[in-house]
Amino acid sequence: MDQQNTLDTELKEFASWLSSKNYSSRSILTDHNTAKFCLPLVEKAGICFDHHYSIPPGEASKTLDICRDVWRYWQQKNLDRHALVINLGGGVVTDLGGFCASCFKRGIAFVHIPTSLLAMVDAAIGGKTGIDFAHHKNLIGSFAQPVHMVRDLLFLDTLPKSEIQSGMVEILKHALIADEGLWTQLLKSGAAFDQRTSDITFVQKAAHIKEQIVKLDPYEKNIRKALNFGHTVGHAIESVFLEDQVPITHGQAVALGIIAESWLSSERGLLSHLQWLEIKNYVLSCFDLPVIDRSVFARIIQYCTKDKKNKNGTILAALIGPVGSYHIDMQ
Ligand code: NAD
Repeated sequence: MDQQNTLDTELKEFASWLSSKNYSSRSILTDHNTAKFCLPLVEKAGICFDHHYSIPPGEASKTLDICRDVWRYWQQKNLDRHALVINLGGGVVTDLGGFCASCFKRGIAFVHIPTSLLAMVDAAIGGKTGIDFAHHKNLIGSFAQPVHMVRDLLFLDTLPKSEIQSGMVEILKHALIADEGLWTQLLKSGAAFDQRTSDITFVQKAAHIKEQIVKLDPYEKNIRKALNFGHTVGHAIESVFLEDQVPITHGQAVALGIIAESWLSSERGLLSHLQWLEIKNYVLSCFDLPVIDRSVFARIIQYCTKDKKNKNGTILAALIGPVGSYHIDMQ
């Protein structure tokens, strides 16, 4: 996509939206990478802000300590209830920034400008905010909606390949639960993903699926649970790696979770054996995944038993079958 063209559309539109509003101050939150790669594009688009705070990149920043730093900074800058926070980053910045804004002075307005593929199709949509706590993913959080969202694929030009893969995993998840046609397209395109041109439709379709689901069920009472497909096992794997201080991306963990939960779907007779094999082969061929040692299986299951979606100690997972449809609250 032509750089100037996108700057002329999404970000510029946001610049004019922002100039029409009367916020008392505008504070941008980034991580150190998005400060380097994405903030200059925001400035180039003429988006005005008063101050900028940057946190270290990565999941390790989704902590109460970092929230304290952010809140302290906002307090020093005298952000009042009429201020606006602009979260410019991947899912870590949108989750943490949304959470901090939703609590600060009992809630101030915020905008998400997702800069990773994963945040564009998933994390920045739906109003879930949160941080990790005591080695548990997203244990503390809130539901809070941004007042505006800007999805500009221009940011993907600097996103590392491993992070593109993380986003592709969520696109895959959305296809598997709700759009067989998108799954067929993904199967055809294989591992190739050109973020600059042809795959804009993947991003739009995947984002649209999540938007539609959360519109129908904003507080995850019902069909929103389908979006957890791959995540019960995925989060457990991520927690074990986090505890062992071994790096794994959220996408890698969820990709492994998708394999595990597709297998479960097939075992339950919901998904055909052929579709399970297609999914497994697609995941293994498209994503660079770490090997999980058998010795950690028991800990993964242990984490699954503590999943926050469980009820009375029973694991409740979202499964699929046939591709394009889902089953929630499966024991
Ligand atoms: P991330 O925010 O850590 O971003 C991944 C890496 O890419 C980071 O190093 C970041 O600095 C870098 N980066 C981001 N944009 C860049 C750009 N344009 N150019 C160069 N580098 C860039 O991780 P993520 O994968 O975006 O998000 C994962 C997080 O999202 C997890 O914490 C997960 O729990 C959360 N999540 C939340 C929801 C939700 O509904 N709230 C849904 C899915 C995931």
